[in-house]
Amino acid sequence: MSFQIPRGTVDLMPGEVEKWQYIEEKARELCRRYNFSEIRTPLFEQTELFQRGVGETTDIVSKEMYTFMDRGGRSLTLRPEGTAGVVRSFVEKKIYGEPQPTKWYYIGQMYRYERPQAGRQRQFHQFGIEAFGAVDPVLDAELVDLGWQFIRSVGVSGVKVALNSVGCSRCRPRYREKLVEYLTPYKEELCKDCHTRLEQNPMRVLDCKKEGCQRVTEDAPRMVNFLCEECAPHFETVKESLDLLGVEWYLDTRLVRGLDYYTQTAFEYILEGQGGHAGSLGGGGRYNGLVQEVGGPEMPGVGFALGLERVLLALESRGVDLPLASGVDCFIVSLGDAAKKRSVLLLKELRQMGSTAERDYLDRKMKGQLKAADRASARYVAIVGENELEKNQVVVKEMATGEQNTIQLDKLATYIREACGKGQS
Ligand SMILES: [Zn+2]
Ligand SMILES: [Zn+2]
Repeated sequence: MSFQIPRGTVDLMPGEVEKWQYIEEKARELCRRYNFSEIRTPLFEQTELFQRGVGETTDIVSKEMYTFMDRGGRSLTLRPEGTAGVVRSFVEKKIYGEPQPTKWYYIGQMYRYERPQAGRQRQFHQFGIEAFGAVDPVLDAELVDLGWQFIRSVGVSGVKVALNSVGCSRCRPRYREKLVEYLTPYKEELCKDCHTRLEQNPMRVLDCKKEGCQRVTEDAPRMVNFLCEECAPHFETVKESLDLLGVEWYLDTRLVRGLDYYTQTAFEYILEGQGGHAGSLGGGGRYNGLVQEVGGPEMPGVGFALGLERVLLALESRGVDLPLASGVDCFIVSLGDAAKKRSVLLLKELRQMGSTAERDYLDRKMKGQLKAADRASARYVAIVGENELEKNQVVVKEMATGEQNTIQLDKLATYIREACGKGQS
């Protein structure tokens, strides 16, 4: 019997995983600067949480969830997105009772049963942030900017923010009526999915990617023209603040979040592709009704999620080389049993001083050890033989230049640390 990796999943192998560590560290660093704290919620939750928190009519809930019964007969679902679990935690722990706002971020695996393709896996990763407890439209703009900064800081250029306002429970019903009125005569030109959407969630027809549907909605009424006296100034301030922050954005009136508890700001990070086609790296918006939907009090929220596979794919397609550290600072070559014993201690000293250090574990001869040092991309090789050991010395060779120095054994760790420009740990 031979085993294969499940469809839609990948092993992140050494050589690849360093890129992940790099972009994850960029995300964490940015979140620190914006004063967001990390939250880690379970990979699975009660199925009902996603039905309520993501929405029964969405593709995610109706077609793509990994749902199973556990041995206690409970229906559980692998999280298809990050927000629902975070909101569940916010409500369950009564964080809403504390001084607001609450600013959290997460990085982790999500699961959706979709047809795998480039940038779309069944197990995939998202970096997301959520801010609860403030209606300030400038906060929306700051969050949009945070995500935009993240994308740019890892080296992806040519990304613009598509922006819209989807209104609120006061102004949306009137718009929805107008939209249905407009769409109904064209029903036959809409795709099958949009027939259902027209009844359950007509705004979702606007973001259907099918050509026929796009043609129909081209001249459909726009939500931005129906915003109420609260939503209209909110949207104006978001736009002004984005300009102030220097974010490159454009109005996209087709952009909808499509659920009742999504309100006002909606945005997406759009990547201009080489072929002129645009792809989304992720997006977010305001969800002033979601905390309530999940059993909490009325409490505003705003957030976004970015697909990390897509960010890495964008980096690849743009030929960006990440500045990844690789190779070891010092590889110790030892000859003879006594030297080998001493080299174990030398390695420990090097590592304690903050250098990356390695040795041969297969009792190779001198030549084999030097080859191993080469494979490890060592910057320096330290050679300890019987002679050197007697004199308490070690020969240090810089691999790039071939330059050699003989130094005292107990100075090796300091020497390497300084040569490689490492700080003390
Ligand atoms: Zn409104
Ligand atoms: Zn459609």
